[in-house]
Amino acid sequence: MNAAPKLIIVGAGISGLSAGVHAARSGFDVEIVEHHSEPGGVCTGWKHGDYTIDGCIHWLMGAREDDAHHQLYAKVGALDGVELRTLEHFVQLVDETTGERLTIDRDLDGLLAQVESISPQDLPVFRELVELARRTESIGAPPMIDAREARGLWGNLSDLWQGREFLLLMVRHFDPLSTLADRLHHPSLKYALDHMMLGAMPVAFAATLLGELERGNLATVVGGSQRFAEGMARKFVALGGKLRYEADVAEILVEHDHAVGVRLIEGEVLRADHVISTAPGPTTVFRMLGGRYTDASLRDRYARWSTFEPISMLSFGVRAQWHDRPDTLHLRLAEPFVFGPTRVEAMTVRNMAYDPSLAPAGACVIQVLMPSDFDFWHDVHHAPQRYRELKHQLAEQVRRQLERYYPGFAAAEEFVDVATPYTFWRYARSYRGAYEGWMPTSETIRARVPKTLPGLHGFHMAGQWVEPGGGVPPAVTSGRQAVQLACVELGRPFVD
Ligand SMILES: Cc1cc2nc3c(=O)[nH]c(=O)nc-3n(C[C@H](O)[C@H](O)[C@H](O)COP(=O)(O)OP(=O)(O)OC[C@H]3O[C@@H](n4cnc5c(N)ncnc54)[C@H](O)[C@@H]3O)c2cc1C
Repeated sequence: MNAAPKLIIVGAGISGLSAGVHAARSGFDVEIVEHHSEPGGVCTGWKHGDYTIDGCIHWLMGAREDDAHHQLYAKVGALDGVELRTLEHFVQLVDETTGERLTIDRDLDGLLAQVESISPQDLPVFRELVELARRTESIGAPPMIDAREARGLWGNLSDLWQGREFLLLMVRHFDPLSTLADRLHHPSLKYALDHMMLGAMPVAFAATLLGELERGNLATVVGGSQRFAEGMARKFVALGGKLRYEADVAEILVEHDHAVGVRLIEGEVLRADHVISTAPGPTTVFRMLGGRYTDASLRDRYARWSTFEPISMLSFGVRAQWHDRPDTLHLRLAEPFVFGPTRVEAMTVRNMAYDPSLAPAGACVIQVLMPSDFDFWHDVHHAPQRYRELKHQLAEQVRRQLERYYPGFAAAEEFVDVATPYTFWRYARSYRGAYEGWMPTSETIRARVPKTLPGLHGFHMAGQWVEPGGGVPPAVTSGRQAVQLACVELGRPFVD
């Protein structure tokens, strides 16, 4: 075999690390260049004194050992020394506008009982959703771990045959969840499907999620999401990969329509035979490649598709615990408040006492996620004092809300850590704070976004900007698939 081809991967998020591990196993001389000083991208967590702030995973698909994603996580090192905690509770909606509460947990019969007591006439719609969830559970989703191009004709035919029932079910239920919400009468139940679970999401997607919850296939990462990424980074380095931090890629170098390396912001050039970018799509396509490799369908996608709305994330360290309160609340506020250009009508609150390793004994992290505005925070970061003042003001607004649900909260508070949409850009280069790429809608979930760019060779994309809806599982499979495609292009075997 010829000398190992040099592969450069832009980004040490989950997809870049997955690509790195697979490429190293497949005999590439591989280097990951990452602008930040740590691995993980948006799948991260950080220390604040004795506390750990988990900045990412609420529910990870693939908790069960018999799940294909779980097995893939193990292969890429993500589970080395890592414990997954099966999710029992998903979320409780507290609708302050009506006084209703609706709890979604592993007990889907319990969900139906709640719906019946809130609004009996709405029971048939929820029954449909739960029945669909159980059908997805019994059929089982096809793993979709490998790139079609690497599976060959027979592999693809066999996948189609094995996954036929699931795929048919998906196709039949691709309408947005809002179509179910439209058939409901009670405002809180309508809200639950339209907002708490993202109304634009296809019904099939929501049903699969509920099915995975019921069968115990959703988890959180004990000790915080960064442990998942750290395991992958260790595996990559152990396999001989080079991981270079604080290296910001300005340009992907191209000669004769073939990617030949990258140029870092300081000017240094790194040559390669092949490049994989996991940086955000708009950054990769329009900044690093100057928009030279596009076609009508790509431009249409970038012009029309919506990206995830930016969020602010406030993590409070508190010397108290409220074990009687649900792990996650979705608060629909009776009195919305305005902050900068954003009207905050709802917020998600995570009561992270469920993982004692995240805080000192008797303490916990209470974390709030709420809609926010990228330009507002980006513009003000140029005036650091004002930026800090605004963070304090936002924390004060949120604190007032929390005191109502966690009595004694303010007195027990030790610190607050405020991450704004600008923070997501500063640490993970999230394009305009879109921390999870394209929104999952009936159109985007169905689309197959190519991992190549028209007319460009020696180049692939991986990660949440080619896997609409984002998420850790697609990031892991996407990195693997980009390497499989590179192997096909270079005529090399893919080593699993
Ligand atoms: C708050 C939050 C909650 C989430 N909850 C869940 C959940 O419960 N379940 C789930 O499955 N998923 C969840 N996700 C989504 C999931 O974490 C992401 O979809 C996934 O980790 C994305 O991985 P990625 O590699 O595609 O992208 P990224 O993590 O964005 O990685 C891209 C990497 O490229 C680097 N980069 C970008 N530009 C450059 C450049 N110019 N030069 C060098 N490096 C560059 C970035 O620094 C980054 O490290 C959540 C995300 C967030 C933020």
